[in-house]
Amino acid sequence: MSPKKKQVAAIKGTKDILPQEARKWQKVESEAKGLFELYGYREIRTPIFEATELFEKGTGQTSDIVTKEMYTFVDKGGRSLTLRPEYTPSIVRSIIGNRLHLQPQPLRFYFIGPMFRYDKPQKGRYRQFHQIDIEVFGEKDPAIDAEIVEMADFLCDSLHITDKEILVNSVGCRECRPSYHKDLKASAESYRNELCPDCQRKIDTNPLRIFDCKVESCQMIARKFPKIMDFLCPECNEHFRQFCSYLDLYQIKYRIDPLLVRGLDYYTKTAFEIISPELGAQDSILGGGRYDDMMREFGGPDICGIGFAVGMERLLSLVPFEERPDVFVYVVTMGEEARKAGMELARAIRRTGVECLIEYKDRSLRNQMARADKLGATWTLIIGEEEVREKTYQLKKMDSGDQKTHSRDEILEIISESA
Ligand SMILES: [Zn+2]
Ligand SMILES: [Zn+2]
Repeated sequence: MSPKKKQVAAIKGTKDILPQEARKWQKVESEAKGLFELYGYREIRTPIFEATELFEKGTGQTSDIVTKEMYTFVDKGGRSLTLRPEYTPSIVRSIIGNRLHLQPQPLRFYFIGPMFRYDKPQKGRYRQFHQIDIEVFGEKDPAIDAEIVEMADFLCDSLHITDKEILVNSVGCRECRPSYHKDLKASAESYRNELCPDCQRKIDTNPLRIFDCKVESCQMIARKFPKIMDFLCPECNEHFRQFCSYLDLYQIKYRIDPLLVRGLDYYTKTAFEIISPELGAQDSILGGGRYDDMMREFGGPDICGIGFAVGMERLLSLVPFEERPDVFVYVVTMGEEARKAGMELARAIRRTGVECLIEYKDRSLRNQMARADKLGATWTLIIGEEEVREKTYQLKKMDSGDQKTHSRDEILEIISESA
């Protein structure tokens, strides 16, 4: 006899999505997909691993993601590969590689899938986490910025997330941001000793990222920093004014939040976020914005882009979901002939599009009925020797307890109509 094998545990920071919960995932995913398709978005699926340099290039050398959190490994061919820590670089690579930018613009894509970051596992945060992402390429008009925010708002509504707030801001462009950057750096420098060590480092590398710091004292200081809104060039100003006017047109409530900035260089103009007080300190449901300079930075054509990303795990924690049993039939049989008749009927029921289970173990009638009840069957179909002889069957509606005799055809009709 071989020694007992040691059980292998799940990797730290990962989680199995068990059937009950998976139903909720499926519901949210299909809701999101259906909704995006209404706006002309189409799904794009890219590999979960890419060349490491794609993400180094995409996030910039100062990004925490790159420096601390990437799952990077060398494959058998000696190539450095990385499990994607974010989605946008992959989609940009795909557009350039497949020459999708030669198609009529704007290009609208959505994506749903796992992402990987080696950060400290904590409550509600996983090393494999999942994101819903949408991206539009090739549309400069601020009307698309408003359309995307409206779509995000619609998504929350359709998932019955009512306790939410929409925040908007502009992060400027490569014309107007340098002078803001200079002022911000000088201001941050004057508070150096009051900032956390991480933020002190950011003063020299990328002071914009101080706004992302979760330390409360840093957030207090960040509120005293100069506001980018006061530094916008005429073009960025006009873009933001029009964007807000379209949100008004859609009657969308929003708040301008000067602290809403993006730490990466390629972000431009519009930034937005949807937050929910229900989530506590980490209150962001969805974040997005414009990245007009990204494609060019990736060595691609000069096409503007805008999009948003939603963390699935956080989103799911907000979605109310009661497990309502679908219409489902449980077939109870007594004796071998009844079982054969039941198997044949179960097959016919499934072909009408209704879920059907049949008991294969030799259990008592009472035992089988109890099981049908426990599983939440809508109908129970009861077949005994007499039913086989008469070719009529007992159909019991489980919630009312009504039980009647029907022919095969009647049963198929009743069941498929109830679905
Ligand atoms: Zn500007
Ligand atoms: Zn800090």
